Amino acid sequence: MKNIVILGATGSIGLSTLDIIARHRENFRVLALTAHKNIDRLYDLCALHRPEYAVVADEASAKLLQQRLQKINLTIEVLIGNAGLETVASLPQADIVMAAIVGAVGLLPTLAAAKAGKRVLLANKEALVMAGALFMKEVRDHNATLLPIDSEHNAIFQCLPTDFKMGERNAKIARILLTASGGAFRELPLTDLPNVTPAQAITHPNWNMGPKITVDCATMMNKGLEVIEAHWLFGLPADQIKVLLHPQSTVHSLVEYKDGSTLAHLGCSDMRVPIAHALAWPERIASGVNNLDLLTLGKLDFAVLDTERYPCLNLAYQALQTGGTAPTILNAANEIAVQAFLDGKMAFTDIAITVDKVLNKLPSRPATNLDIILQDNAAARECAQLLNRHP
Ligand code: NAD
Ligand code: MG
Repeated sequence: MKNIVILGATGSIGLSTLDIIARHRENFRVLALTAHKNIDRLYDLCALHRPEYAVVADEASAKLLQQRLQKINLTIEVLIGNAGLETVASLPQADIVMAAIVGAVGLLPTLAAAKAGKRVLLANKEALVMAGALFMKEVRDHNATLLPIDSEHNAIFQCLPTDFKMGERNAKIARILLTASGGAFRELPLTDLPNVTPAQAITHPNWNMGPKITVDCATMMNKGLEVIEAHWLFGLPADQIKVLLHPQSTVHSLVEYKDGSTLAHLGCSDMRVPIAHALAWPERIASGVNNLDLLTLGKLDFAVLDTERYPCLNLAYQALQTGGTAPTILNAANEIAVQAFLDGKMAFTDIAITVDKVLNKLPSRPATNLDIILQDNAAARECAQLLNRHP
């Protein structure tokens, strides 16, 4: 029986994780669930999964949740804010921590799980983009087990050589290829891009995900963040990580070996596949997802990416090449710009422009400790906010 903590339980990844757990009650027990503001959903999840702990954003939400839980005679310790998140991420009785909070706010609890030596299921790619070197060091120093949930990275993980060590370059690998669907606007005329709406941008052709990552897919910043994520997870330099347009999202990614072999992972576009893989690893459990029907699928298409349509991808490659806190700055500026776009305060095409401007304004520094990373994260957010107000 494994005890599981789900950071970001009310989101898309959190709910998919709970769906699998509900299919395997004999193997997994929910120890803690966290949410930000969606107390109704967290209450429903607590009633169903009966965790020992819940974490919410503030005192008022905690009170509300406690009162409702008391009415159904459920005793759950409700903790608050970032301190609460870090506490549950490092509970001694926790075996597995699903890191599924969206954005930079997920960094500290995910780091806490790594420092506590847990099995960390990493969906929160922003944490690794912000603090890659530091995060991987904590994983190594505390003997944590890091398993990627992002579908591309989970796919690569499944195609790696048997002697692969997380974060270390393996000489057998020539390149990895990350596939990208192209997002909501892959076929829209470029001249229409400045006028797209948030509602259009959060409609992904293949995957059902939270709003931030869905916008990131449309700008291709998601793939840029994933290139940086792959760099840290698989120990490869930027020139050994390639991106390929693959509109069907069926081949989740590929590993090219030195001998001319290419290994790929294929599956339906349902995050329960990588989540089930990481929950059970090295075993396999049912995820509720069917295997692919290749005959119905018929064909798979691949194409080179149009860099004019997706300037964010190059910005991410440049930040990776620059190193230090450049990826921290890139991620922070992107989070602010995407939120401004979702709030109707910025045009879609201004997301890339804002990230570029912030990267040009703030110099990268060596990311030698957490304070520097958090300072540059805050500075980039402020800079992006100011640019949005006074372009
Ligand atoms: P989502 O928006 O559906 O859910 C986000 C979760 O984070 C919610 O539970 C929310 O309560 C919590 N949260 C948000 N702000 C918070 C804050 N300030 N403090 C505490 N908690 C907060 O997002 P998602 O699509 O589930 O994505 C989660 C993470 O997984 C992201 O980093 C995303 O890039 C990654 N990911 C998601 C998918 C997917 O299919 N959804 C695929 C690959 C990677
Ligand atoms: Mg992905």
